[in-house]
Amino acid sequence: MISIPSGWYGRHDSQLTVGGIPVERLAARVGSTPFFAYDRELVNRRVASVRAALPGDVELSYAVKANPMPALLQHMSGLVDGFDVASAQEMRHALDTPGPASRISFAGPGKSAAELAQAVAAGVTIELESELEVERVRSASAAAGIPARVALRVNPDFVVRGSGMRLGGGPQQFGIDSERIPAVLAGLGGDEFDFQGFHVFAGSQNLRVDSICEAQRRTVELIVGFADAAPGPVRYLNIGGGFGIPYALRDRPLDLGPIGDNLARLVDGLVRPRLPEARIVVELGRYLVGEAGVYVTRVVDRKESRGKVFVVVDGGLHHQLAASGNFGQVIRRNYPIAVGNRMDDPPEETVTVVGCLCTPLDLLGDDVSLPKAGVGDLIVLFQAGAYGLTASPAAFLSHPAPAEVLV
Ligand SMILES: *Cc1c(COP(=O)(O)O)cnc(C)c1O
Repeated sequence: MISIPSGWYGRHDSQLTVGGIPVERLAARVGSTPFFAYDRELVNRRVASVRAALPGDVELSYAVKANPMPALLQHMSGLVDGFDVASAQEMRHALDTPGPASRISFAGPGKSAAELAQAVAAGVTIELESELEVERVRSASAAAGIPARVALRVNPDFVVRGSGMRLGGGPQQFGIDSERIPAVLAGLGGDEFDFQGFHVFAGSQNLRVDSICEAQRRTVELIVGFADAAPGPVRYLNIGGGFGIPYALRDRPLDLGPIGDNLARLVDGLVRPRLPEARIVVELGRYLVGEAGVYVTRVVDRKESRGKVFVVVDGGLHHQLAASGNFGQVIRRNYPIAVGNRMDDPPEETVTVVGCLCTPLDLLGDDVSLPKAGVGDLIVLFQAGAYGLTASPAAFLSHPAPAEVLV
């Protein structure tokens, strides 16, 4: 059985509280289950802990694709220094927040001509992902008569070990290979470009302090080497992030202390002497919001089949794909789960929690030990604040969309 992040969510009268609200009352307020609830205070605390660990002059950017809920972005805009977006729609939602457009960076392969035109007009920083994209941004800038704020996304010549997902090193659809960077920089001198700097994002969901530190060091070493070839001073250095969160029993939470110390040494030793004008940015998605969200479902059926107890809930993989094991592609591990209205009851039985989809893949908790949950009880899945609803196949089986609330 997986324990719930301790000291994180509160309890009241045997109920889990989210945003201080007991979960039954929250369900009544939402009016239907299943739903996602994100806790502002937990987001605040998480951002504060990152700020406390990182050097004071390092900026923090939120990667919108982790959770693009517009209300959350509004809340985030008061906490972070910028947003990283990966589509025109994400860009519009980020532009709706009070922060300046210049603090929005637009990354991602395959940006369309329409997206690039919007990005140039908005004045966001376009992270150039290919040499063809350089030319398309040049055209978009010429057509608009506005210099495009640009940074080069670099595909580094190293691999970050320990990442759950790798987005850099070796052949990649992301970024421009580091060995091509000097040639590309030589072509950025025209009026069409307002050159800002560089972006490296080499991996995601990393729980290894040593490999995150090594990635930061190699990233900084790589980028300072490009400074002399740049068409102007380097004003922006986005070193990525990739900080992971624990999902399963064997995962240990990251210790940010040594990561912050490592970064402070790099900033003082390399970045400030070599790139004195650079804003240094760490960009995080999952780490800021993943643990601040829950997916709340209600038990609709309970059955025993040949000795195994199944608890059937009204949600499922169509809303929280990752908890089910991503269509069976990876070795499935249980996410933290609880009976949200029986938090003080001891575990009484081992059950399998399934969703309401007609596929055996719709598994939310396999052989988990829980207090006895009957029809009407609330089953809560944790670690649902990032890559939940918008990373799930919501149209699969045509159930209604769940509500999302920020409390
Ligand atoms: C997805 C993405 C992120 C966020 O990754 P997390 O693992 O959620 O922190 C950051 N930067 C870029 C460029 C991304 O594509």
